[in-house]
Amino acid sequence: VTGLDEFSLIELLRQSTPAADRLALGIGDDAAAISMPGGPELLLAVDMLVEGVHFSFPEATPREVGRKALAVNLSDIAAMAARPLAAVIGVCLPRGRAAELGLELHAGLVELAGEFDVAVAGGDTTSSTGPLVISVTLCGEATGRGPVRRAGAVPGDWLMVTGCFGGSRQRHHLDFQPRVEEALALHRAAGLHAMIDVSDGLAADLWHLLEESGVGAQITAESIPIREAALHASDGRTPLAHALADGEDFELIFAVNPADGQAILDSPPTDTPLSRIGTVTDKPGCTLKMPDGRDVPLEPLGWRHPLSGP
Ligand SMILES: [Mg+2]
Repeated sequence: VTGLDEFSLIELLRQSTPAADRLALGIGDDAAAISMPGGPELLLAVDMLVEGVHFSFPEATPREVGRKALAVNLSDIAAMAARPLAAVIGVCLPRGRAAELGLELHAGLVELAGEFDVAVAGGDTTSSTGPLVISVTLCGEATGRGPVRRAGAVPGDWLMVTGCFGGSRQRHHLDFQPRVEEALALHRAAGLHAMIDVSDGLAADLWHLLEESGVGAQITAESIPIREAALHASDGRTPLAHALADGEDFELIFAVNPADGQAILDSPPTDTPLSRIGTVTDKPGCTLKMPDGRDVPLEPLGWRHPLSGP
């Protein structure tokens, strides 16, 4: 299996995981869904942050890392249009500064948990000579309209996004506001056909939604909202390239029928900006209409964790 990338490994694991009756939704979405007798589906998301990979000190403070560890999970529960309920935390602290780091991480996490009415239900701590590792498991509940999956977009749907994209490495990945309220408001206002949050990058996560839905898309470059930080990047890449590939935007991409799309643009159910970036097509693949009118293939650019190599 040498040379497998992260997504190929996940696909192999997915194929060798037995189905379970209680599992309404298993591996392959932003959260799993478990059927609960007589109640709404229970959603489960987990995300792990590793020092040196997802954050580094002193660029991030320990408080910000604790906050981010919960925030990335809130973003996954938001992507299902569900309500977050409770979290458990696993943390491996570097020996020598374990107690001090543990308290600071906890302070950052508990503060955000309070903002989103999430109960901190417990966890496990250990220590090692390695980097700091923190993993949060968040459970949530579906609303009466059920969870929104990555699968479900149909040809003709509008593809829409919350907020803007690119340049997230500068600050945004540490202080973003998970789109939980936005997702719930959109779910009340419109029939959401499919939804995903953007962690790997706008292009990569758009591809995930299209592949799970078995459709293609036509995207208009000029309609992609670009974050201020990406407009002034000094690395020679265009603002558009940053917006498509940087990742960690933690905004939502969703598909709705055109009437619902127009209705939520006319009377937005949230103060967070909403934009239409393209249309779902029955032809597989994804094309990007450039400002000069050219159609170019949109590749699933973005960050893939390398599993082999130097
Ligand atoms: Mg996600």
